[in-house]
Amino acid sequence: MIRRGRFAPTPSGLLHIGNAFAALAAWLQIRQAGGEFVLRIEDIDKARSRPAFADQMLDDLHWLGLDWDEGPREGGPYAPYVQSAREPLYEEALEKLRLAGRLYPCYCSRSDLASLASAPHGLSSEGVAYPGVCRALTAEEREARGAFKTPSQRFIMPQGKVEFDDGWRGPQSFEGSALGDFVVKRADGMFSYQLAVVVDDAAMGITDVLRGADLLDSTPRQLALYEALQLRAPAFSHIPLLADERGSRLSKRDKSLTLLSLKESGIASERLLGLLAALSGWIDRPEPVAAAELIPLFKPVRGETLIFGNDLRSWLFKQ
Ligand code: GLU
Repeated sequence: MIRRGRFAPTPSGLLHIGNAFAALAAWLQIRQAGGEFVLRIEDIDKARSRPAFADQMLDDLHWLGLDWDEGPREGGPYAPYVQSAREPLYEEALEKLRLAGRLYPCYCSRSDLASLASAPHGLSSEGVAYPGVCRALTAEEREARGAFKTPSQRFIMPQGKVEFDDGWRGPQSFEGSALGDFVVKRADGMFSYQLAVVVDDAAMGITDVLRGADLLDSTPRQLALYEALQLRAPAFSHIPLLADERGSRLSKRDKSLTLLSLKESGIASERLLGLLAALSGWIDRPEPVAAAELIPLFKPVRGETLIFGNDLRSWLFKQ
């Protein structure tokens, strides 16, 4: 079987070195396996996404030395590779979930949800785990509320454990009830990341998802969707996040660390690659290296974060 991987950025800003690390690792995994790499633009959130950012991202990734077999500019057998053009597929999946009895309408407002935030439920990448308030509504109550408000659609997260073997982090176990029922379509009509990413990864035949550890607790949600939609799930790996010396995640606000800014400062992409490779232990010490040279050296990196400290920062900016 040919392995297929992807990088799927959201064009709501410029790529920074944390994104570059995720893109590089996903690309290396697939190139080392002799597989096919897909570039998909996740611009489902139209209010936050800008076509100009998407364009810049593609240029920045080429600057880094990455290539892909299918993507928004190249096309391919699973086109379009831009989520805003794939909404009929998400609507179809939503209908399938509805018919399977896996959805319910939720009438909670933003302030209802904010007051839930102080209640003792788990926090996650989806915000506060929703305790299922609207799930218990009777048909009459739904009708009464529906007269005043368009609901969002929530997916019923199965109770019990969701387990998977992470390619980089080993066995993972999550409690379905702690993750909570999550929104798959918002009241304003926007489909959620969780639904769109599952529909697209399945439709595009993706076998390997490699992405940042910030999305680790999205994986059990996505696995529940794969199961509900009767789709085959890919293998998942979550890579450490880049952090500063104090252990805080590198901020997107640090504009000097965007790929565009590095390029404009005249820094060679091989320097950035050398830095990421040294951080990951793929090479012994930072030195300029081309993306293709890393293909045979690539291997998983353990840990929650990798520290991008001041010494590496000065090395990167040293001309
Ligand atoms: N579009 C998501 C993001 O930019 C990543 C999706 C994924 O890799 O699953 O955060």
